[in-house]
Amino acid sequence: MPTDEFFYYKKDHLYCEDVKLADLAEKFGTPLYVTSKSSIVAQYRRFEKAFKPLNRLTCYSVKANYSLAVLRALAQEGCGFDVNSGGELFRALEAGAKPKKIIFAGVAKTRNEIEFALRSKVLFQKVESFSEMRAIDEAAKSLKTVAPIAIRVNPNVVAETHPYITTGNDEKKFGIDDALAEEALSLAATLKHVKLVGLAMHIGSQIFDAQAYLEALFKLLSVKALAESKGFDVKYLDVGGGFPITYRQTQPAPDIEVFAEKFIPLLKNQSAQIVFEPGRYIVGNASVILTEALYRKQNHRGKNFVIVDAAMTELMRPMLYEAYHDILPVERKEREIIIADVVGGACESGDFFALDREMPDVKEGELLAIFSAGAYGATMASNYNARPRAAEVMVSGKKAKLIRRRETYKQLIQNEEI
Ligand SMILES: *Cc1c(COP(=O)(O)O)cnc(C)c1O
Repeated sequence: MPTDEFFYYKKDHLYCEDVKLADLAEKFGTPLYVTSKSSIVAQYRRFEKAFKPLNRLTCYSVKANYSLAVLRALAQEGCGFDVNSGGELFRALEAGAKPKKIIFAGVAKTRNEIEFALRSKVLFQKVESFSEMRAIDEAAKSLKTVAPIAIRVNPNVVAETHPYITTGNDEKKFGIDDALAEEALSLAATLKHVKLVGLAMHIGSQIFDAQAYLEALFKLLSVKALAESKGFDVKYLDVGGGFPITYRQTQPAPDIEVFAEKFIPLLKNQSAQIVFEPGRYIVGNASVILTEALYRKQNHRGKNFVIVDAAMTELMRPMLYEAYHDILPVERKEREIIIADVVGGACESGDFFALDREMPDVKEGELLAIFSAGAYGATMASNYNARPRAAEVMVSGKKAKLIRRRETYKQLIQNEEI
């Protein structure tokens, strides 16, 4: 996504809301994540409006961006949370989430995590295997309670997206095959310390094709009918996340309303509450990474490299998925267009932000903004090459608040001993 109403040029300077990005770089240094609070709130409200005719609970997928300030902003809007680990559950609770609006997912929940979720009294835990259902039953028994669960059904549909982010076909590790649903329901009926309250699916991420959801939904609804025929009360029908955003103007994502139009007729007479788990849609376009172009170089054939102070350690997506991110100079001016690779300083050839990109001829020392870095950016950050984690700033109107301090060298080794 290039500019929008939250990130835009004014007199050739790039702004986030009412704050000049160059000023933030000056004050907080680079690389720096800059997040627009208003963008997050606007996306959440748009999502809620689109699906308004449904009795629903929207549980933001915490893994997309789990900064406490982001979670707090969403909790204040009344949003629920989908967490994938004990750590994410801890973050959501710290940010002020209501346990009854938290759902707990994950194929590899440990006993500790299951017990943490039970003690926290989350709305339900999603079950992704027979063994896990038994493990939850045992954990609940030991805590003298009954665990509300939802079976995550793998509907075996193929959604057109990057192969690393499809999750709803039977070659993938996620969920229990729809073909095994009957068996899963039978197991749930025999275990005394689990109570089936819902059915769930999540078919992947950045899905452009609403039809893929419909296909999966039909399968989920048939599992629901089966469950009801066996006497289960399916209170929640969790349709997952995966709603797309625009990363490049030439490939615009369908509007959320397009998905709503398909979902609503199918789901509006459902007795169950519909649970949504959007992640990327809420936060993806709400952050940029500010970075300085440290060096320019050319190889002997004249190929250009723009070497920046951000790296794969701040944004893995180009390396992981060959993802496209717009990159714009923070100061706009007339200049030549070059073709260049924009690369970071980590010791990996895959450490790039753009390959063969047509871009303005930026000078050394100039600031660049890497767009659409709000989802799966900071949450996938690493300390590779002993690079301290970048700072994060949240902008709201004229205000800019440091929501995560830049990591120090001392912090890099704080848990170590010689
Ligand atoms: C990752 C994930 C989501 C969010 O996916 P987005 O593409 O960011 O909307 C929702 N539900 C589950 C179970 C997930 O694993």
